[in-house]
Amino acid sequence: MLIYLDGQFVTKEEARVSVFDHGFLYGDGIFEGIRAYNGRVFKLEEHIDRLFESAHIIAMEIGLSKEEMTEVVLETLRQNKLTDAYIRLVVSRGRGDLGLDPRKCPKASVICIAASIQLYPEELYQKGMPVKTVPTRRNVPEALNPRIKSLNYLNNIMAKMEATAAGVSEAVMLNHEGYVTEGTGDNIFIVKKGVLYTPPTYVGILEGITRNAVMDLAEKRGIRVVEKVFTRADLYIADECFLTGTAAEVIPVIEVDNRRIGAGEPGQITLELIKDFRALTNVDGPEIFGNEEWTNVQ
Ligand code: PMP
Repeated sequence: MLIYLDGQFVTKEEARVSVFDHGFLYGDGIFEGIRAYNGRVFKLEEHIDRLFESAHIIAMEIGLSKEEMTEVVLETLRQNKLTDAYIRLVVSRGRGDLGLDPRKCPKASVICIAASIQLYPEELYQKGMPVKTVPTRRNVPEALNPRIKSLNYLNNIMAKMEATAAGVSEAVMLNHEGYVTEGTGDNIFIVKKGVLYTPPTYVGILEGITRNAVMDLAEKRGIRVVEKVFTRADLYIADECFLTGTAAEVIPVIEVDNRRIGAGEPGQITLELIKDFRALTNVDGPEIFGNEEWTNVQ
């Protein structure tokens, strides 16, 4: 496995960061999770744009242009001869001293890892999965806006642990007012009377790229899509529910806090959107390899 680390490709063993890196010391950094399917990088432009937006919000200079960053992702896949992969792009504030002050970090550090990921077992995609709401709340936007895909995932990790302890694979996180926000690494949707609802970004969520893609696909099918705050009770009485994310893709939810959702099996609209999403992943995004290279990796 070859990993991109600050302008070079190095082996897994050689890929090391300093203990003085502020990403490590303070979680001062940002990241993206991206997927490649069938020789293309799905929604690459959207991921690069979001990475640069996260950097801009935390006033971090990445040190590469968007075009260069795009090439980093594509070249990492080429170096590893991958046509289908999960890509982790990380930009940390870089090496500094033990103080918080980012002025002590002269250069951001850029890392790109291409590997594979299986977030949930295949069975859950077929049958749907149970989830639970958990005590740990999503970050208050005024403190650390969840729009920033930052290296601070401690709330989400706590929530994940609470879900695991409660015997389910994923948590539903509420905000400080009790409104439903999202999962620990995925956005949430419900269907009620044929209308698709998802929480608006202001409740405190990451504006997921899969979320946006699914909203577009639903609209193309003529399904009404509404961004609206909703509570746990709204979740319990939904006809259908599913989660979306780069790693999770689109996964049906059939139980929330031990309440059955709809008929207790993946709903019709969920299944249609899964089908549309799978089709889109095969055709969207820039190609990794030219024709000749493509035959070599096949
Ligand atoms: N919410 C959170 C907290 C996430 O970390 C992610 C990405 N893993 C998502 C939602 C889904 O976003 P995307 O569809 O862009 O992967």
